[in-house]
Amino acid sequence: MFSVRDKVILISGGNRGIGRGIAMGLAEQGAFVIIAARDEKALIQTSELIKGRGNRCIYVSMDITSTESVEEAVRVAQERSGGRIDVLINNAGMSAENVKAEEMPESEWLKVLDINLNGYFRLGKAVAKDMIARRRGKIINMSSVFAINAPPLASPYSVSKAGINQLTRAWAVEWSRYNIQVNAIAPGYIYTDLTRERLENEKFKQKMLSRIPMGRFGEIDEIIGAVTFFASSASDYVTGVVLPIDGGWNAA
Ligand code: NDP
Repeated sequence: MFSVRDKVILISGGNRGIGRGIAMGLAEQGAFVIIAARDEKALIQTSELIKGRGNRCIYVSMDITSTESVEEAVRVAQERSGGRIDVLINNAGMSAENVKAEEMPESEWLKVLDINLNGYFRLGKAVAKDMIARRRGKIINMSSVFAINAPPLASPYSVSKAGINQLTRAWAVEWSRYNIQVNAIAPGYIYTDLTRERLENEKFKQKMLSRIPMGRFGEIDEIIGAVTFFASSASDYVTGVVLPIDGGWNAA
């Protein structure tokens, strides 16, 4: 029921951080993973690492700010995977600069929204075409606790993640008729390139830890179980859900 064996799974931002951990975890369970991002060196390193463990992985170059690049990446991914993508993990994203809302440059606002929200739209739309034709598919969007809790100095980030929650519900409703399930995962803080600078600030780190009932940040590997559930037939009647993985942060 929880098997992802032989499923073709495309992971945006699969070359680093959480996306890399997900790619490794799913490949370990027998999935054929396709990682997609910009940095070719990191794409090669991660795909070699996965293949070195005897698992299946290919990479495609993709910039989610460009519709052309996204559509080409999806075309290449489908061509190299026997013509199908069973599961999309919309994960690529960026954090926002620490800037007060009243001083937020429009360019920063637009940049974060374009990667974190418009990028999900571009990739989801491109992959869904084939899923709709085949009348099956699973899409997993990477949200954040900050979709609900708006931290100071990061307004475009939290707005982008709130948008992802609603995009998840909108796609879930529209694509139910095509047997496509769309769900989201909302992690709390996990130590990666995206969060390193903030979490290395001791005062900030202690403040964040004090909000988490479990008293610690998450580990990349702690995302894999939920992704496996949403990617497998165990979740066939689950759609439009945003699952927090946050040590109780949202509940507190
Ligand atoms: P990282 O900074 O480690 O990784 C970000 C990934 O996104 C990289 O693989 C990067 O690849 C890719 N990416 C960024 N911009 C683009 C682009 N324009 N086109 C294609 N790929 C792009 O971040 P995390 O692993 O921490 O974050 C992954 C996701 O999880 C994000 O959506 C983030 O918001 C979310 N998240 C993270 C949390 C955390 O605490 N770390 C908590 C909650 C949510 P490349 O640069 O090579 O293109």
